[in-house]
Amino acid sequence: MMRTFRERGGEVVVAGDGRADSPGHCAKYGVYSLIDMNSGQVIGLHIVQSCILHFQSNEVKLSYNIDLEGLKRAVSALNGAGINILEIITDRHMQIQKWIRENMPFTVHSFDVWHIAKGVKKKLLSLAKEKDCQDVSRWIKSITNHLYWTAASCNKGDSDLMESKWKSVSSHVQNIHHGHQGPYKECQHDLLQDRVWLKPGKLAFLYNYYYLQLTL
Ligand SMILES: [Zn+2]
Repeated sequence: MMRTFRERGGEVVVAGDGRADSPGHCAKYGVYSLIDMNSGQVIGLHIVQSCILHFQSNEVKLSYNIDLEGLKRAVSALNGAGINILEIITDRHMQIQKWIRENMPFTVHSFDVWHIAKGVKKKLLSLAKEKDCQDVSRWIKSITNHLYWTAASCNKGDSDLMESKWKSVSSHVQNIHHGHQGPYKECQHDLLQDRVWLKPGKLAFLYNYYYLQLTL
């Protein structure tokens, strides 16, 4: 496989993610996988023993640790095989961002929309349980779909348009489809049937609670 990649020019765009065994069962090992985005083939698979096992089971830290160690090994294996990583797609863990910034200065780092959408959904589900916020639950599917659409419909690097499209959802859920801030001035959908629109009071909460925390 590595020879094939080298023959094609030796440059790849990859996506990586780690998976820890469920804490409480066996949290000793995790697997980090790297996929070539062009062919869809797995080009790296690394089993990592958790270095912080002795500190007992902090689930989150454990998962991050496996991700970082797995990433280091996967990148090192590709570099050792003479493959140049043009772009790498990961989740948004801070340690991962820092390591890539410091160690892969010529590689573009992109975030995986699936992980972002997963985080969005989790926060919205939690918000929908708050007093007077039950209507939010009706919007969770639309909002996460909108996030996928935002990522898919913008050219790479057009962060202004991407941000504008993403933030337009806060007006859309109030039945406001024009006058959005930034280059995405109005929604592109057809006329919509009436539905349970969110009211500004609830939206303010939604906005503070969630949107301002998310930077695409
Ligand atoms: Zn709209």
